[in-house]
Amino acid sequence: MRKLCYRCRGEELSVKPGSFNWLCRKHADEELRQVAQKEKAAVKGSPALDRKLFPVFSGVLRYFPDALLAVAEVSRIGNEQHNPGQPLGWDRSKSSDELDALTRHLLDAGAFDRDGVRHSAKIAWRALANLQKELENVSKENPCAKQ
Ligand SMILES: [Zn+2]
Repeated sequence: MRKLCYRCRGEELSVKPGSFNWLCRKHADEELRQVAQKEKAAVKGSPALDRKLFPVFSGVLRYFPDALLAVAEVSRIGNEQHNPGQPLGWDRSKSSDELDALTRHLLDAGAFDRDGVRHSAKIAWRALANLQKELENVSKENPCAKQ
């Protein structure tokens, strides 16, 4: 079976990293550039941030109100555990193995951890931590983002 670029039906083949769609080199490069531009614009404080494209209230707070409360509790309990008596703040030096930790909690999803917090809330927290770091590093990792 011949695989064709899904955008131009051209035969020159390449695969966009992280995609199941077949793309020619030209369209793969184009899509990577678009993703890099979108991610640059999505960073808090970016002058290119178009708030309509990132509906934080209607698309995040409204979608996941209870889940976000549970994640906030994970932050508070973690802060009490690692920096007792200190104001709430993400101490990134305490852990950097977000995906390993996430996976450990995944094994117990649906149950409560010893501190009374749902493993699923800790999974969500670790997923957010991983995504936050990934987006912060995007310009270092993706040469397209530097343009
Ligand atoms: Zn193409």
